[in-house]
Amino acid sequence: MTDRLRAMALLGVAAVIMTGCSTADPSVSSTASSTPTYSPPGMSSPASASTEPEPEPELDHSSPASLHVLVNKQHPLDPADYAPEDLSVPDVPSSRTSLELRAEAAGAAEELFAAAAADGVELTLLSAYRSYAYQQGTYGGWVQKYGQAEADRISARPGFSEHQTGLAMDVGAASGACALEQCFGDTGEGAWVAEHAAGHGWIVRYPEGAEQTTGYSPEPWHLRYVGTQAAADVVASGGVLETAWGFEAAPDYAS
Ligand SMILES: [Zn+2]
Repeated sequence: MTDRLRAMALLGVAAVIMTGCSTADPSVSSTASSTPTYSPPGMSSPASASTEPEPEPELDHSSPASLHVLVNKQHPLDPADYAPEDLSVPDVPSSRTSLELRAEAAGAAEELFAAAAADGVELTLLSAYRSYAYQQGTYGGWVQKYGQAEADRISARPGFSEHQTGLAMDVGAASGACALEQCFGDTGEGAWVAEHAAGHGWIVRYPEGAEQTTGYSPEPWHLRYVGTQAAADVVASGGVLETAWGFEAAPDYAS
């Protein structure tokens, strides 16, 4: 079920409950509102019902398997060695074999690549799911080579990488131009991605001008899957995940 359908289903349920509520005996209504089952805000008080906004479906930002989990330098995955259970290989052009994403993200990646191709824009998948162990090796290598301070600037610590969720991917131009470089944003492919990603449930996770909030330099190639409804909401509130979801800025690690 998509986010939009889930939201519509919730609103439908709410509408049914509200209709019943308006004709119900107040004592029955107050009993109902004390039960732990779902009830829309304002039900037990008609006065507040008119002032409170429609109930929004709650997004889960902490469970590692949630499509809306927030991962940054202040919010590692918990457990740190989390691994998704529904990884699959999206059917898209790829620089390496067997790059994997969570099933729903893989389907959305196929849609995004197909829509790009229909517009004459040829994308390639450069990176997708990366395991805790893989990130341990990568980050550890940088620490050995440059020390921790420099390693933290160019690589996520294991357990802190959004790639470990299986909901993030790095995309590039099929031509190879500006692969994993800032200038990707200036290519036709990068511009297409910036304009169309959200329509397929993806957001450009580390946009320009948000380094102090996201903790990362702009990465026009790094996309995060959140679903079409959440992506539209993030874009509408400025395009920065931390801000849109009400989190503090995460410029650096806690320690
Ligand atoms: Zn990335």
